[in-house]
Amino acid sequence: MALRVVGLLIRQEVSALARKPSTRMFSSSVRAMSNVLANSPNADFNKKIMDRYSRLKTDPNTIQATYVWIDGTGENLRTKTKILNKKPESPAEVPRWSYDGSSTYQALGGNSDTTLVPRAIYKDPTKFGENDIIVMCDTYKPDGNPCDTNHRCQMQKTMDKISNQEPWFGIEQEYTFLDFDARPLGWPAHGFPGPQGPYYCGVGADRVIARDIVETHGIACIYAGIDFAGTNAEVMPAQWEYQVGPSLGMKCADDIWISRYLLWRIAEDFGVIVTFDPKPMEGPWNGAGAHTNFSTRAMREDGGMKAIEAAIEKLSTKQEHHIRCYDPHGGKDNERRLVGRLETSSIKKFSWGVADRGVSVRIPRGVADAGKGYLEDRRPSSNCDPYAVCNAILETCCL
Ligand SMILES: [Mg+2]
Repeated sequence: MALRVVGLLIRQEVSALARKPSTRMFSSSVRAMSNVLANSPNADFNKKIMDRYSRLKTDPNTIQATYVWIDGTGENLRTKTKILNKKPESPAEVPRWSYDGSSTYQALGGNSDTTLVPRAIYKDPTKFGENDIIVMCDTYKPDGNPCDTNHRCQMQKTMDKISNQEPWFGIEQEYTFLDFDARPLGWPAHGFPGPQGPYYCGVGADRVIARDIVETHGIACIYAGIDFAGTNAEVMPAQWEYQVGPSLGMKCADDIWISRYLLWRIAEDFGVIVTFDPKPMEGPWNGAGAHTNFSTRAMREDGGMKAIEAAIEKLSTKQEHHIRCYDPHGGKDNERRLVGRLETSSIKKFSWGVADRGVSVRIPRGVADAGKGYLEDRRPSSNCDPYAVCNAILETCCL
């Protein structure tokens, strides 16, 4: 309902701004705006009905545990809920579970019991019980081997070898809201918004779309225990970013997956689609990435620039391998995004520089001035598996 109101406001805003075509968001088809979420089944439910049940007092020892795992696409999540009778203090205390891997592109029908192993626990902001939790799991085939899309398992093995180097990761997760016509939310059905320029970090009904969802998601992530670090509107209208970390070891990648789960889950309540596709709109519209900031203890200490440059040197020799690891289709998704324009580098050539957003790896100005800190790998796609990305960086720079 809220979005319908936003749609109406935008209509008024658009007519009020009709004399300033270069800065207004919607250049045509004001009428189309009244159709925002017209075909979204979840948008029509009266959310107040659930409030009645949220006030029911449940036994705090009866816990809803929502298990979350990566399916066979390597980019989508699945989830199901189990009732526990004791609050677990660690992932090891959460029971293992299984699911039908033949329905998630992970197994054949004849032998499809796929195992969920709990790895990280979060508070659940979408449930009513004070002890309800979300459980990030990785997945194993009937023969005990990790599923093909279980990159967490490999990253954990690498981490165990180099944990004395204390790697930190911070990821900038970009994404786009879509309506049910698969167009970015709030875009006219026929035609385009005004060109990029006013939307990045924008404010105002003619510049940003669906802040309601963004703010709800931020609060939910903080409540859950994610190292949520901030958020901003992005260059393309209906595109946003949030940041997670810096966090030690596995936590940033775990947090990114659960933050994606919460974003999908909350946007579901609003009836809005979230896509992590790295290039949702062809043409002069920015794509979406997952810029990955990385440091080791040696990089963060005085004189750390030497360690940063050594890591960049190693990264420069493995461009093809990293591109293969940086999206779920072995580099195919990033082919559409890393075109050497629109704040991206070329997918074919490794490059680096200080404060340059058109390179593969950037050293931020503040880091160059301090002579220590971190590097930013700008190549990972917005739909990357952060376990695969972090593992590739660790293997190249730390092993
Ligand atoms: Mg960004």
